[in-house]
Amino acid sequence: MDLHQNLIGGEWTEGPDASDNINPSNTDDVVGRYTKADAAQTLKAIEAAKAASHAWARSNPSQRHAVLSAAAKEIFARKEELGDLLAREEGKTLAEGIGEAGRAGQIFDFFAGETMRLAGDTLPSIRPGVEIDITREPMGVVGIITPWNFPIAIPAWKIAPALCYGNTVVFKPADLVPGCAWAIADILKRAGLPDGVLNLVMGRGSVVGEAMLDSKDIDAISFTGSVATGKHVAAKCAEHMRKCQLEMGGKNPLIVLDDANLDIAVDCAVNGAYFSTGQRCTASSRLIVTEGIHDKFVAATIEKLKSLSIDDARKKGTHIGPVVDQKQLETDLKYIDIGKNEDNANLAWGGDILNRETPGFYLQPALFTETTNSMRINREEIFGPVATVLKAKDYDEALALANDTPFGLSSGICTTSLKYASDFKRNAEAGMVMVNLATAGVDPHVPFGGRKGSSYGPREQGRYAAEFYTTVKTAYTLP
Ligand code: NAD
Repeated sequence: MDLHQNLIGGEWTEGPDASDNINPSNTDDVVGRYTKADAAQTLKAIEAAKAASHAWARSNPSQRHAVLSAAAKEIFARKEELGDLLAREEGKTLAEGIGEAGRAGQIFDFFAGETMRLAGDTLPSIRPGVEIDITREPMGVVGIITPWNFPIAIPAWKIAPALCYGNTVVFKPADLVPGCAWAIADILKRAGLPDGVLNLVMGRGSVVGEAMLDSKDIDAISFTGSVATGKHVAAKCAEHMRKCQLEMGGKNPLIVLDDANLDIAVDCAVNGAYFSTGQRCTASSRLIVTEGIHDKFVAATIEKLKSLSIDDARKKGTHIGPVVDQKQLETDLKYIDIGKNEDNANLAWGGDILNRETPGFYLQPALFTETTNSMRINREEIFGPVATVLKAKDYDEALALANDTPFGLSSGICTTSLKYASDFKRNAEAGMVMVNLATAGVDPHVPFGGRKGSSYGPREQGRYAAEFYTTVKTAYTLP
């Protein structure tokens, strides 16, 4: 089997170690073999990014446009194949994988356009004859550290703006999903990106990630992952007085009011809580339901769950693929057990391991009812197909419950009342608010991010990405 190598200074380079990429739908299926860097190889990648930085920062918009646009075209043209790779290595369904690959294409396309719109401001000074220009300059070398749950979209939404605004990149993907990461690096190399502008270093967080955090030559770090790792990244960045952007976990509420359309509410809940196996930072893991609709909503949600097929991610008709790996499956089962033992919580549906034709990490979606917001299953991110129902007496209590969480990424409401929808948009303590839509599922051209324990630093995506990937310069001139 071919060994997929790291990309360092434009050369495919073997690391000292390697491992197999395993399909979670069928653990007998090896997706590919991927090299792993050590600290020394990571430092070489950082050196290469630094060496390429000056020239790329001075590249003209059409050079950057050509590369990003060629990458977008190739991703669009190959989205079925890339989506299949994604489904095979991460366990999302084929439809979800193809959708995510298409989204990566849209992101490269968006930032290809942005290369042609790099603008600044010119202002008059309060001093006679003096002119003021405000411009944005690249940060320099950007370290990009990504999680496993969006193997192509998250790398795309960090790499595309980094390159668009003239930065060079050291990219460390999650260990579980090197396949999509390698494919992006390969596409960008063939799209004409100069050597060293993007460096791929696959390997362990404790080795490659730590070497990046310890390097003085990385000017900014964009990280997506768990809160625990995020806090460590932030502390290391503070030591170096280095800019960082962190996107972390969620415990996202979806409120369902008595006046909601029941079908829409159930669709939002099932999609938001369970699709992509519940492994989304924006998953609706807390369903907050007012008393009048509660019993109907729970019954209809369970009926819907019964109709879903949990099976091989690439099989036709599968609605929910497997959990990503054994470790995550154990975490999910641990929380299902915690839930069963919490006061009065009732496991109303699911939670069992499922056997399918191939050996994989199949878990029946679980729904807890009769829960309270202080329970661990309502406070801690599980990151699996597990959701809870909290009963609320009215909108005000539902809103208070929704906001009573250490997280603040996405927050949703299902209602036909304009009054409650408008109030919720203003008062939900979250970076993204959804009305009659699932908490998960966002557009590629607008800001993404949250508040409280979910995010730290400037927003990602859309034009707001410039806040992180550039630094502002104010120039005064007396002509
Ligand atoms: P994780 O924190 O375990 O790993 C994230 C990345 O950090 C990986 O590449 C990992 O190798 C690396 N890493 C681990 N230890 C490191 C260290 N000491 N130094 C530097 N890097 C290190 O997270 P995960 O399990 O891959 O992803 C799941 C988490 O990601 C969930 O909490 C989820 O909510 C979150 N997530 C958040 C968003 C968002 O935008 N808010 C999006 C997707 C996922």
